[in-house]
Amino acid sequence: MTETIAPESGLSFEFTDEQKMFREVMRDVANRDFSKAYCREVEERKESPWDLWEKVTGAGLTAIGVPEAYGGQGGGIIEEMILAEELSRTMAGLLWIWGVTSFAGSRAVGMFGSEEQKQRMLPRIADGEMIWSISLTEPGGGTDVLGAMRTTADRVDGGWVVNGAKIWSTMAHVADRLLLVARSDSDSERPSGGITVFLCDAKADGITATTIPKMGMRSIGSCEVQFDNVFIPDEDVLGEPHKGWSMLIESLNAERILVAADCCGALTGVLEDMVEYAGERTAFGKPLGQLQAVQHMIARTKIGLETARLHTYKAAWLHSTGRPAGVESTMAKVVASEECVEGADRGIQILGGYGYATEFDMQRYWRDMRLYRIAPISNEMGLNFIGETLGLPRSF
Ligand SMILES: Cc1cc2nc3c(=O)[nH]c(=O)nc-3n(C[C@H](O)[C@H](O)[C@H](O)COP(=O)(O)OP(=O)(O)OC[C@H]3O[C@@H](n4cnc5c(N)ncnc54)[C@H](O)[C@@H]3O)c2cc1C
Repeated sequence: MTETIAPESGLSFEFTDEQKMFREVMRDVANRDFSKAYCREVEERKESPWDLWEKVTGAGLTAIGVPEAYGGQGGGIIEEMILAEELSRTMAGLLWIWGVTSFAGSRAVGMFGSEEQKQRMLPRIADGEMIWSISLTEPGGGTDVLGAMRTTADRVDGGWVVNGAKIWSTMAHVADRLLLVARSDSDSERPSGGITVFLCDAKADGITATTIPKMGMRSIGSCEVQFDNVFIPDEDVLGEPHKGWSMLIESLNAERILVAADCCGALTGVLEDMVEYAGERTAFGKPLGQLQAVQHMIARTKIGLETARLHTYKAAWLHSTGRPAGVESTMAKVVASEECVEGADRGIQILGGYGYATEFDMQRYWRDMRLYRIAPISNEMGLNFIGETLGLPRSF
């Protein structure tokens, strides 16, 4: 698979033929394996949806983004963006069952892992044999994540001993590995110094993961995780000890682009459902879609979707060419999450009472996408960052 969104021929958002074909394949996969009705039923389950994971791995999705040399199908941020957009049209937030392993596993290990770690882990990720979780946020706060970080990693013979607590680690209770971030040097002058990232065995002695009841993506548990004298061998340190923060920063843009793509896909699902309902439902002897107030809500949602797509595609394109994409990825994440939540909210309005009913998908889109105004970086923090890049004084 190629990495480019278009040939170097001036301004263009044309995908390559291969990428267009890949999009069609992903659309078919969504329609075949992840119908809206199936996802609606899966989302509200109390237990982990192993059948959903089997469908994700069975469709080869965990191999996308893993280099062919390590048993994957290759592809970069553009292919991952296409996958995220197509699948979240029906899956909405359930897409993250793929996203978390893709981001924490294949991307982190692929970008920063040693040759030994790549050989040990990437083929298993591609084959769907390894579930990952990210353990970064702590109970003391996610926005000021460095200021709040209390989890420590102390050097011992042959490795490290970790103590502390993380919160919201999605899928940690079923994961094989945690991408775990801990403070390994408390004497560091800067908060971003002395941070080490571990590819931690999620089943190691001393780890307890407890799910937190939540509003959306309910069957994909997000966990509070306790670390009580957890030993991690040296071979599971990612990159250099104490220099983990710069690695994380480098991978943040990709995460924001994928979240934005998830929002674009979900908003496509929202738009489809509102148009369909407005065509079928009648009031005062005519279809709802003939009422100008309703038409405007739908048109506004279409504009929001295209705006979000432009931002997302541009950020992905910049990222794929190796150019700086920090501002663009952040703008894409902010715009796409705001548009998606607003679109789903309009959708609920158009569906009236049925918009509030769990037998329809509109409320699922709204509940799932509401998260992305908060995570992985809150939109307020995203705006702080964009303001700072305009030369304004740092506000935090
Ligand atoms: C369902 C779910 C899944 C998650 N999955 C994961 C995961 O897998 N792994 C993981 O590590 N984390 C995960 N997170 C955590 C997520 O990244 C954090 O919730 C997010 O970073 C916000 O942190 P917080 O919740 O502690 O809010 P806080 O940091 O306490 O912020 C609260 C509010 O204050 C605002 N605020 C704070 N500081 C500023 C400022 N300087 N300027 C303006 N406003 C500010 C914020 O924008 C926010 O509105 C998940 C969270 C949820 C809810």
